[in-house]
Amino acid sequence: MKIALVGIGKIARDQHVPAISSSPDWTLAASVSRHGGIEGVESFARIEEMLAARPDIPAVSLCLPPVPRFAMAEAALRAGRHVMLEKPPGATLAEVQALQALARAQGVTLFASWHSREAQAVAAARRWLSGRRIESGRITWREDVRVWHPGQDWIFAAGGMGVFDPGINALSILTHILPAPVHLRAAELDFPENRQAPIAARLRLSQGIEADFDFRQQGPQTWDMEFVTDAGRLALRMGGNVLEVDGAEAGGEASIMGEYPALYARMAELVRRGASEVDLSPMVLVADAFTLGSRNTVDAFEF
Ligand code: NAP
Repeated sequence: MKIALVGIGKIARDQHVPAISSSPDWTLAASVSRHGGIEGVESFARIEEMLAARPDIPAVSLCLPPVPRFAMAEAALRAGRHVMLEKPPGATLAEVQALQALARAQGVTLFASWHSREAQAVAAARRWLSGRRIESGRITWREDVRVWHPGQDWIFAAGGMGVFDPGINALSILTHILPAPVHLRAAELDFPENRQAPIAARLRLSQGIEADFDFRQQGPQTWDMEFVTDAGRLALRMGGNVLEVDGAEAGGEASIMGEYPALYARMAELVRRGASEVDLSPMVLVADAFTLGSRNTVDAFEF
């Protein structure tokens, strides 16, 4: 099936283009970019031009930041195309619900992707936890924003979510693997004095789970989750790619490179089945942290 890629930035080049190139299901047939595009692929400056010129392309994958994404998703769905959304699926919960309703009315697929759920040890962790009771949990998600989002001022603008942009990846794993739903009890958010979104956050969740998100980590990066249950301990490391049970390695591989191929395989399967997949539970936790969290002002941040 042909697919068009919209927003040719860091994640499009790092992950989407290689994943589509190696996919048995998809051919990259067009790109939409304000700045250039991808060598050898027809490029359009505006999505409306691509939708009008290429009725032969049934699917569109949107790799831009959350705030400008809704208008593009709406245009593609109105034109009867299947749509795959980068995470987080939107800038607000209601706009994603509007896209869900539109996809249903148009009879096309909407896939709100969560790449971290495709990490190599996540399915095994979910199986191991099923039937166990969580006694406590600790999530540590600390990364260097200058490495992963170099110069991306949008991430600290309103709607950019700040440290919740990576933090929501941890929450997407958490909401997928826990045997029972989780909700937010308290949060503390650190906003740089010159920015509109937090650079660090600490969350207290039900089931005794705490999360520590920080965008200022230098040196080794940390994407870990550890759980104590009524029948043993489980840890996920490397963003869900490595599994530990009772302190011993129990599967996975320290590589993130399987996540996007798995997402494109899933998108193909959804299109073939005529189904959609939209789970907003990670984003509900983030929205609740902005609603309930107390706010600290911290040092200004410059890239
Ligand atoms: P990015 O490089 O800053 O932006 C991606 C592209 O989106 C830009 O190159 C631009 O494409 C387009 N764009 C940006 N602002 C726009 C606007 N206001 N209007 C229209 N188009 C706009 O960001 P990114 O790192 O790729 O992140 C994009 C999404 O992927 C985010 O939701 C992020 O959470 C997710 N993601 C990022 C990473 C990562 O490591 N960076 C990892 C996983 C997921 P053109 O120049 O082609 O128009």
